[in-house]
Amino acid sequence: MPFFGGEELRRIYLKAQKERFALVANNFAEPNVLLGLLSAYEEAKSDLLLQISLGAAKFAGGGRPLPGLRALVGYVRALAADVKIGVFVNLDHITPDHIDDFLRPAIEEGLCSSAMIDASALPFEDNVAATKQVVELARPHGVLVEGELGKIKGVEEGVASDEAFYTDPDEALEFVERTGVDLLAVSVGTQHGVSKGRDLVLRVDLAQKIDERLRGAGFQVPLVLHGASGLSGDQVKALVAAGVCKVNKDTTYQYVYAHAACSFYLENRAEILPPEGATFDPITFEVSAGNWSPNKKVFDPRVMGRKVQAAISEVARECLRQVGSEGRSLYA
Ligand SMILES: [Zn+2]
Repeated sequence: MPFFGGEELRRIYLKAQKERFALVANNFAEPNVLLGLLSAYEEAKSDLLLQISLGAAKFAGGGRPLPGLRALVGYVRALAADVKIGVFVNLDHITPDHIDDFLRPAIEEGLCSSAMIDASALPFEDNVAATKQVVELARPHGVLVEGELGKIKGVEEGVASDEAFYTDPDEALEFVERTGVDLLAVSVGTQHGVSKGRDLVLRVDLAQKIDERLRGAGFQVPLVLHGASGLSGDQVKALVAAGVCKVNKDTTYQYVYAHAACSFYLENRAEILPPEGATFDPITFEVSAGNWSPNKKVFDPRVMGRKVQAAISEVARECLRQVGSEGRSLYA
């Protein structure tokens, strides 16, 4: 399947809303995570939604976000053409100061299926204005837009009660009506955005109320859950049943990557690092004492890379099961 745009992605969200499952939105910044995800999703017959943040694009571009994004999407595009599932790219958490230098060219060059504008740190009216601007920019290109609601309007910094860090259903409806967003990220007590660092109770009932309020007003706007790494499988299942159709995963993969790489290198330490007191010259391959030499079968980065890919595949399959989207590909 080719790498798809927003209209194909919308069809999946409509199905997800109707049948109560969610897509995992998978962050990546380099090939090992991408390849691990692709293999797991192809095997599970699930369409793959990838996410690229500005930071990831910057990393991939050696400090230059737009070339980095083109490189990552080029990689995705080439691989997507050869797999049997639908593959999509969402731009993750783009703040209003990067609309002109990043989001706009990315949309115009066809580098994403959807884009998330994060103006949640701004006051409500400014959030509405920035989000609406991106919706108007994305619409002609068939790119879906995800917005995020921050604190309840009228609440000042420093005096907010816990209540102020949860999304208010009425405000969610007003935000959707005024911006025309396709997806809405809500704050229901995960460690993310405005509620980060606060010990909030997870409110599945609130997700359900917001979903009902939006549907009741005739909007088919799937809810999005940020900060989902760290939730239990049962919590995720309950949120999906309550109307969440997109669950972001980034931190989980970061940890799984580091765990797989670290375990592999620790197990094979003696074949990579010279014995205590000796040094090894990587150009001349001379060792300062004894006849130790490193093992290429171990230090070739592809060996570690395959371990990482396998570990990512395994955890990705578990996440797919949690959100109920295993075997649900529309495009397989
Ligand atoms: Zn967010």
